[in-house]
Amino acid sequence: MSCYRPEAPATSTPAANPHDYNPFALMQPRAPQAIPKEARNGARVIANDVAPQGVYLPDYNVLTPSMRSPEYVQMSTAAAITLGVTPGRMYRCECTRCLNLLLTYPEGCRANCAYCGLARHREAERDYADRNFIRVDWPAVPLDTTIDIVARDGAASPFHRMCISMITHPRSDADTLTVLERWTARIDPSAIPVSILSNPTTMTRDDVKRLRDLGADIFTVALDAATPDLFERTRGKGVQSPHSWAKYWEILHAARDIFGPQKFGAHIIIGMGETEAEALTLVQRIVDLGGHSHMFCFFPEQGSLMDHLPATPRDQWRRVQLARYLIDYRDVRVEHMRFDAAGRVIDYGIPKSELDAVIDAGVAFRTSGCPGKVAEDVSACDRPYGDSPPSNIASYPFAPAKSDIAKIRRQLRIVRSQ
Ligand code: SF4
Repeated sequence: MSCYRPEAPATSTPAANPHDYNPFALMQPRAPQAIPKEARNGARVIANDVAPQGVYLPDYNVLTPSMRSPEYVQMSTAAAITLGVTPGRMYRCECTRCLNLLLTYPEGCRANCAYCGLARHREAERDYADRNFIRVDWPAVPLDTTIDIVARDGAASPFHRMCISMITHPRSDADTLTVLERWTARIDPSAIPVSILSNPTTMTRDDVKRLRDLGADIFTVALDAATPDLFERTRGKGVQSPHSWAKYWEILHAARDIFGPQKFGAHIIIGMGETEAEALTLVQRIVDLGGHSHMFCFFPEQGSLMDHLPATPRDQWRRVQLARYLIDYRDVRVEHMRFDAAGRVIDYGIPKSELDAVIDAGVAFRTSGCPGKVAEDVSACDRPYGDSPPSNIASYPFAPAKSDIAKIRRQLRIVRSQ
């Protein structure tokens, strides 16, 4: 059996990066600046104490209302459009299938992750509820309003899944339980299953159990960084942030034990300085535990400590995206693949005809995440354009068309066999 090896990857594009991948040395975050005392811990919002009136659309030119979970949650612009609480249209998408609910507090997230728009170092610049996150605004909506709309729509709801996204805040564990309880009291979790995007730093094994007992379906841990060094640099002491690699793995192992196979997973961001071999070794480790990886392409978030760094070159992203799909869903192992001296994939470990079929099917290049109602390998969480501009899509929030597949093949430099 011969395995397919593409030509050596091309040296490519971004001006600041002579490589076709983002190397560790280049991807150094800026150091966070000191925050004036009067801007810390949501002090402005708490002092102004403006009462929220229904849905709040982020606008940093007004006095931000004082909103707290569990009464309020934030949701992505795509989810707010799909829910019908804000107008808008999305390029080539009718809606999103995942209702992601982000806990919210005037004090905001107390962590300082270098790539994240919600990080604490932005306190002086924008109030928490007004910060861009994954490139979009996150409207704040009363939880009861949200549940009323989904319960009213019943089986006609466009949502295939709901996800509660925790942040690093002393109230986050208790409020996640309350949001889950209020949701499952009105909405059958077998009709719209619930995922938890956890914050391991504040959690214990018992917290994980409680979430499972209250009806959560899938539990995920956002490792985000693919190696311990990168984690420390982007989420730990390197940016005065409280997270630790060991604690994240402790809770990931608890999720494996408590939620079981195929019901837990980890988020990984590609292009923050890891090699392709390191990222795919991590993907294999998660699969060997019985879980899945949900993968995103680094795209610099304005206002973050990495907003001066290049987005992941498409070559690197496509190679890792394709290889991750093969490991997660096609029983290919990382040991079957081959890598060059820079850790780039040079052999996917399967015959060319099989590789062609996987590329042409297109699923490998769709947004990854917890499944919806279509298929196990098709994510409900399609988050349009969270990791790229629509003009150069990294994760496709829809089934790629023929012309998209042709573009993907050019990026991979893999020509279809006749
Ligand atoms: S813990 Fe999550 S929300 Fe908070 S700064 Fe880090 S990535 Fe952003």
